[in-house]
Amino acid sequence: MKTFAIDRIFSLDAYTPGEQPRDMKYIKLNTNESPYPPSPGVARMIAGDLQNLNLYSDPACSDLAAAASRALNIPPEAMIFTNGSDELLNFALLAFCDGERGAAFPDVTYGLYSALCEMYGIPYEKIPLGGDFRVNPDDYSGLGKNIILANPNAPTGLFLPVADIARILESNRDRVVIIDEAYIAFGGESCAPLIDKYDNLLIARTFSKSHSLAGARLGMGIGAPGLIKYLNKVKYTFNAYSVNRMTQLAGIAAFEEAGYYAANCSAVAAARERAKEALRRLGFFVTDSAANFLFVRSDRIGGEELYERLRERGILVRHFSSPRIADFNRITVGTGAQTDALIEAVAGILSDT
Ligand SMILES: *Cc1c(COP(=O)(O)O)cnc(C)c1O
Repeated sequence: MKTFAIDRIFSLDAYTPGEQPRDMKYIKLNTNESPYPPSPGVARMIAGDLQNLNLYSDPACSDLAAAASRALNIPPEAMIFTNGSDELLNFALLAFCDGERGAAFPDVTYGLYSALCEMYGIPYEKIPLGGDFRVNPDDYSGLGKNIILANPNAPTGLFLPVADIARILESNRDRVVIIDEAYIAFGGESCAPLIDKYDNLLIARTFSKSHSLAGARLGMGIGAPGLIKYLNKVKYTFNAYSVNRMTQLAGIAAFEEAGYYAANCSAVAAARERAKEALRRLGFFVTDSAANFLFVRSDRIGGEELYERLRERGILVRHFSSPRIADFNRITVGTGAQTDALIEAVAGILSDT
């Protein structure tokens, strides 16, 4: 058969994003978005700049970096902004990995890591998590590969202490260690203070989960200026304007209204603990998630079946088919009312089986 695609793309098993259904209104607990709208300043700032959409956005995101610098107490040279953190991951793999310099990450983690390695022809090693789904830092000691760890990990929600990350950084000083902190605002502790000590640390952050901006696409990298410099080379060559004007303004508002998001994250964390207890009372195994989702398994119903039954009741959760986690579901934590609806639906489904 004739194909225009190069072999790697022809045979690529493309990344499957979570469903964004159009058929009806679900209680959407499948892609870890915030259940709350953006803060009021987001709409206000975007509205005030719409007449300037004829002008390119600032490639350096200078105003956004200044706002971030004030909020996080990190110098602007130690940060880079991207079109979602997925784009930052692309840039990092392009800058730091090749056929010789491979990557390593857990066998159960964010599926994009392996999909990107496949697309770019980067050899990668999947390091099995322990039986308790925890990362064992010893498995990452002196690996000689670039390392990617989501912390808290997805879809398990489990958090690896910063001291363990420091050990991994220490034993891999000639390789880059990417810590994907997509879910850090929901209870974990950031390893951002380590960037001064470790020039091989790159932190990926996103505004998609904790900051109600999944649709705006805003991600951020934090690392030593010597690392950020190379990411900027890739960014400026790939697409210097990947963060559009509206999104840069949304990000500024998000930093200025940090209290709003902190309160939302606390509400989500409280709902998570409540849902965790309720599901455990219903007999589920539930990991000790520090994120805005729960990773759950029941002996009474399979992962795929629970997904289907909940879908029939208008609640969308995530099911992964990879063998090790096929019995599980990942359930995003929503508002208090959505949590009530979820627990009621799960209890109803179990009493029917
Ligand atoms: C959602 C998610 C991302 C991607 O976030 P975007 O900024 O929306 O691209 C990255 N890493 C992990 C672990 C995620 O769960």
